[in-house]
Amino acid sequence: PPFTVAEADEVDESLRLKYRYLDLRRPKMAQNLQLRHKIVRHIREYLSQRDFLEIETPILLKSTPEGARDFIVPSRMHEGEFYALPQSPQQLKQLLMVAGIERYFQIARCFRDEDLRADRQPEFTQLDLEMSFIEAEDIRAVIEPLLVELCAAFNPKVIQQRPFPVIRYAEAMDKYGIDRPDLRFGQQLFNVSEVVRESGFAVLKNAVGGGGQVKGVVYPGGAELPRREIDELTEFVKTYGAKGLVWIGVTAGPDASGHYGPESLRSQVSKFLAADEISGIVAASGAAVGDLILLVADQPAVVAQSLCNLRLEIGRRADLIDPTLLAFCWVVDFPLLEYNDDLKRWQAVHHPFTSARDEDWARLESDPGSVLAKAYDVVLNGWEIGGGSIRIHRSELQDRLFTAIGMSKEAAQGQFGHLLEAFQYGAPPHGGIALGIDRLVTLFADATSIREVIAFPKTAAGTDLMLDTPSRVTEAQLEELHIQIRPPKKR
Ligand code: ASP
Repeated sequence: PPFTVAEADEVDESLRLKYRYLDLRRPKMAQNLQLRHKIVRHIREYLSQRDFLEIETPILLKSTPEGARDFIVPSRMHEGEFYALPQSPQQLKQLLMVAGIERYFQIARCFRDEDLRADRQPEFTQLDLEMSFIEAEDIRAVIEPLLVELCAAFNPKVIQQRPFPVIRYAEAMDKYGIDRPDLRFGQQLFNVSEVVRESGFAVLKNAVGGGGQVKGVVYPGGAELPRREIDELTEFVKTYGAKGLVWIGVTAGPDASGHYGPESLRSQVSKFLAADEISGIVAASGAAVGDLILLVADQPAVVAQSLCNLRLEIGRRADLIDPTLLAFCWVVDFPLLEYNDDLKRWQAVHHPFTSARDEDWARLESDPGSVLAKAYDVVLNGWEIGGGSIRIHRSELQDRLFTAIGMSKEAAQGQFGHLLEAFQYGAPPHGGIALGIDRLVTLFADATSIREVIAFPKTAAGTDLMLDTPSRVTEAQLEELHIQIRPPKKR
């Protein structure tokens, strides 16, 4: 064989994927598949006991936008027409609610033609679920005990907090710089924009004056970190777009007047900062003697990106992450819409069937950016393992939403006419969620990649090395499908 079972951990992953049937002989891989089976079986039993009906929905479908590109399938019988593979069963599960199926679920395969980031697959599996006559709390009341049961049955680690903490999106962004915070450790971000608004240190002052922010994070016990390590952290945040890192080591406490003199600090920039600014920064950071304060000054998106990753890096370097913990949380109150600078229009953050909060509908036209959604994510150890929302179930509200995202009546009819029409026959209030099975099993198996828990995964380039696909088809097949391959684009 190209590699022995004992060697497989060392060989290149592409070799393992090419000879996947040999790779799967390894006990570790077999265990992952067994774990996956047991988790899915447990989910099926749990939901069946609660009167959920498992219903299959078609794979050959019409576009179901979830923010990605569709895979399309040409129709032989209908020249020039195409099916799309479902990005999720979203519209169908909503139609099942109109049909009077009060509780639906499916272990559903979803397809999204995205440029693959590290841990994505072009096809993946979700627990897809929808319920009628419910609010967001009802979805949480089904999913949270399910996750707790799964942990009890298949995960030796300890759930950090129950009920799972519920965090508002704005708060998550403010404290962690990301909407899927890893709560296994603290090191919350802090904001010193107001402290340095009039600073003599131009780097900080200009960032705030230019509509940006100055925020930071504390490296506990890092005051005396070797210069080389501080430089590494600076390079690290630069990969997220930050121009640099302002660092202040607190080596001793303040003097009698509460100020930190040069002898209490290790920093190259303290000379540019007024005494009040320094004490303001130290106070806001919560740093103790021996800690290192790290600041980033930039536009909010860059600050969030670099500090959320810096926080995680500090967590790893300073060994702050307790690997025996399962830190779940719910993130709620997401914005409904975000502005797309390229398309010059608003677009749905989740998908266009997500409802605004009742009290926010009034502002949809006048202040779209301020409208919050009835959407929720469930997060585990910094991974988004699921997300969903309460849906719009009245066609006049759905019409308003389409208008708000710049979709004409005709376009809306063409794409979603079936749903809009269905709503006219009476739709119950409804909502649902989808949990990523691949990610969940990966976390439970303590595996490093979702490919470890999928029998036949694709590479990051979307190829199957064992089957050698995607691949060409014969001229005759193309002919039947009324398809002609264009000559490659000239570069
Ligand atoms: N369809 C959504 C998704 O795939 C989940 C949901 O809203 O229920 O992310």
